[in-house]
Amino acid sequence: MKLERGFLQSRVARRIVALFVLCALIPISALALLSYEHVRKELVEQGYTHLAQLAEGYSASLYDRLIAVGRQMSGMATEADAPGARWTEGYRQTLRTEFDAIAVVGADGRTTVLLGAPRPFAPLSVTELGYLAKGEAVIRTSHAGGGSAPVVLAQAVDPARPERGALVVEIGATYLWGDSDALPALTDFCVADAEGSLLYCSQSRPSPAIGEFAARRTEPANGRFTFDGDDGPQIASYRELFLEPHFMVHGWTVIASRPAEDVLAPVVAFQSSFIPVIALALLVVALFSVTQVRRTLVPLSRLIEGTRRAGDQDFSTRVDVRSNDELGELAASFNMMNVRLGRQFTALSTLADIDRAILSRLDVDHVVETVVRGIQAIVPAHSVSVAILDRNAVDVMRVYSRGPGADAPVELERAPCTVEDTQELALHAEGVWLDATASVRPFTAAVRRLGATALFVLPIVWQGAVVGAVALGFGREAELSADDRARSHDLADRVGVAFAAAARDEQIYYQAHYDTLTGLPNRLYFKDQLVRTLAHAHRDRERFALLFIDLDFFKRVNDSLGHTAGDDVLREAASRLRGGLRDTDTLARLGGDEFTVVVSDIRSSRDPRVVAEHLIAALSAPFVVDSQEHFLSASIGIALYPDDGLTADELLRNADTAMYRAKDTGRGRCVFFEERMNLVAVARVRSERDLRRAVDEGEFVLHYQPLQDLGSGAIVAAEALLRWQHPERGLLSPEHFIGLAEETGLIDRLGEWVLREACAELGALQHAGIPLPSVSVNVSARQFRQTDFVSTVGDILRVTATPPGGLEIEITESLLLDANADVVRALDELKALGVRIALDDFGTGYSSLSYLKRFPVDVVKIDRSFVKDLPDDESSSAITGAIILMSHALHKQVVAEGVATAEQAAFLRRLGCDRLQGFYLSKPLPAAALAVFVRRAGGTVPVARIAAG
Ligand code: C2E
Ligand code: CA
Ligand code: CA
Repeated sequence: MKLERGFLQSRVARRIVALFVLCALIPISALALLSYEHVRKELVEQGYTHLAQLAEGYSASLYDRLIAVGRQMSGMATEADAPGARWTEGYRQTLRTEFDAIAVVGADGRTTVLLGAPRPFAPLSVTELGYLAKGEAVIRTSHAGGGSAPVVLAQAVDPARPERGALVVEIGATYLWGDSDALPALTDFCVADAEGSLLYCSQSRPSPAIGEFAARRTEPANGRFTFDGDDGPQIASYRELFLEPHFMVHGWTVIASRPAEDVLAPVVAFQSSFIPVIALALLVVALFSVTQVRRTLVPLSRLIEGTRRAGDQDFSTRVDVRSNDELGELAASFNMMNVRLGRQFTALSTLADIDRAILSRLDVDHVVETVVRGIQAIVPAHSVSVAILDRNAVDVMRVYSRGPGADAPVELERAPCTVEDTQELALHAEGVWLDATASVRPFTAAVRRLGATALFVLPIVWQGAVVGAVALGFGREAELSADDRARSHDLADRVGVAFAAAARDEQIYYQAHYDTLTGLPNRLYFKDQLVRTLAHAHRDRERFALLFIDLDFFKRVNDSLGHTAGDDVLREAASRLRGGLRDTDTLARLGGDEFTVVVSDIRSSRDPRVVAEHLIAALSAPFVVDSQEHFLSASIGIALYPDDGLTADELLRNADTAMYRAKDTGRGRCVFFEERMNLVAVARVRSERDLRRAVDEGEFVLHYQPLQDLGSGAIVAAEALLRWQHPERGLLSPEHFIGLAEETGLIDRLGEWVLREACAELGALQHAGIPLPSVSVNVSARQFRQTDFVSTVGDILRVTATPPGGLEIEITESLLLDANADVVRALDELKALGVRIALDDFGTGYSSLSYLKRFPVDVVKIDRSFVKDLPDDESSSAITGAIILMSHALHKQVVAEGVATAEQAAFLRRLGCDRLQGFYLSKPLPAAALAVFVRRAGGTVPVARIAAG
């Protein structure tokens, strides 16, 4: 709505003005019409009344004149027979004003003319004569063709003597009807006789309508009518003139008429002024309404215009309405609102800028700068500073400050910051007013220098700690509105958020690149650095060595002492490694107990072997955990750039291979990579893949080697031995794959399968009536240490419905060597499940009879290596005998493995060995063959053979 000029184009304006005008027009016009009608009626009524009076007067004078003529005639009648001396020419002349003719008409019809030209008078009729005899006069009229008809009056000369005839006069028209000029102006008079014939009309050509009216008229004697005359509509009044008592004639009718227009002349005048008056009134109303509408609508349109501008985010212009009414108030509050909105808007957009800065991960300093630049647009501060703790130097704040003026620069300075400062700030979370002149805090120095005398200081808080402060400088302590305070808080919070975001970014970066346990670079970061080192070395034709370090026996610490102890050892190892290197060397932890080092400058000064041995020595010193000494060492593989690889992956892989080689060849040493190693490594990778596939596809079978009880001779058990039905290499014995399965962890799945399969087979055999009481299964140490091993065994026993004592588990000494509380608990739990425990390969390795005492073992299996030299080798015999004795003393059963001959069997029997196992009895057999064997043995055959031996 555009109202300033031509505001009547506004529809509202037009509507209101039209309404005003209409409101005025209707009553004015109604009033005018009513009064017009009233006046017109009144005028017409007056006109009629006036005409009636005129007609009355005219008829009265007519009557008077007739009476006067009658009287004069009575005077003349005496001289009718003999006109006397009065009838001089002079007298006659005077008579001529009144009479056109005077004559005496005798009874015989003889006429004596006394005045005027002789003319015939009709003889008197009997009626006339009778009338005359009564002394009355007789009027005779003849119809006037136009103008006036002659009126004749007759009177008896002597009423007593009618034979004397009558005096007849013809009255002068001018005398009788009067001079038409002397009649009232504009009024016409007509006189009609009783028959309706017009006797006289004052106008020369009377309207035929009058004649018609006269002819038609009957009653009453007085009245009014209108007719159309030559010059427009006329109004007329009539009166009857009664002549009968004196004159023998019926009454005449006097009609006075006037043009209606004359009567209504005042109305016409009224009419002509009436329209301008209405127009004037309407004009006044229109003008009045236009001014009123304008006074309302112009401010309104300005307000609308202002609202539109505010909608377009222009809050700078003000609405100019100066009236001191509600509109003025509205405009004033609109302007006030606009100012606030403008501030709010600037505040929001500044905050949005800051948020963008925070979100786009600009560093804290950028965000602080944005805040410092934006803050004055939001808060009416004279100068401002934002101080933020330097994250690298805790007692220093970086202070960004800015003075007044739109393009004042942002200055940066460093200020010391004490704990007291931050503690004091922390007390005033809502901000505090400080006297700038008295304040001594260094971080407010910048604002003070910029001329502020009063300071409003707000702490910037992150994670409950003060990390900075916003200082607003003012000329004097001002009243900060709640809005201003809230916005300052917003800004301080945002700086806090930026600070937090930066801290978090740093943390994320750190987590992504560093190992949290040791603080060393992690694999990702190390590879990054290695790539960079490679690029440098390539450019500068430098050589460097990559050391791949793996701690020896770390697993033992971890498994026996727990992860916390393991972590301590790793941290200690890391610090020893770091201590053994130069700053230019890169040390990283790849994961687990694996570390890597890049040793630079090897061409000029350093031998990587020396560095490696130095590190091994450092790691060989005892680690004290829980006040117990643990001896670890390290195996190190070394790959050289560019000899052993040109890429990071290649170097890492080859150093790793060399490290394995170091482990394989005795640990605690370093080995340089050689190409040959790769072939071994490749073969290993291939077999691992092969084995994995075999496990997946179930290429394994179990063979069973029976065990005989030497007392009863019965087959009391069978040991399950694993075979790999290899698609190309045929049936493979465990020596070809058990080691790999253990290293790769595949043993877990494989071992579980063996347990399940062996138990199921035992069940099947027993179900088929084969008298085999139990089956023993080899379990490798790694498999045994699985946390869910016992529960897996329990599940299998339950599912296969193996009776108690049906399953024996063979473990090796190596398990007991590192045994911790978990292992002991597992053994106890297995026993509780009814599982017997056999200690396999006894006599080899670290064999210690104390294990037999410490651990809940049921069976001891004497290793084949002792049995094979029996009975001739003395030491073997002695050891075997001792083992049997000792075991029996501890209430353990003894099994001799690898019994190949009858002598051996007999000898062992003599020594009191409980069971035997070996080719002498049977080779390991497929399940079906075992069934046949056991059935055929029937518990007796072999015993007979032993007895025989
Ligand atoms: P082991 O537990 O000592 O098993 C006995 C080994 O001695 C078997 O070898 C068996 O064939 C062999 N043997 C038995 N009697 C004689 C004999 O009179 N003379 C000779 N020369 N050898 C005899 P095998 O089957 O090759 O098993 C080798 C090793 O593989 C086993 O030694 C055992 O430690 C391991 N093993 C076998 N099956 C499994 C299994 O399912 N799990 C685990 N973890 N290890 C297994
Ligand atoms: Ca065994
Ligand atoms: Ca064995």
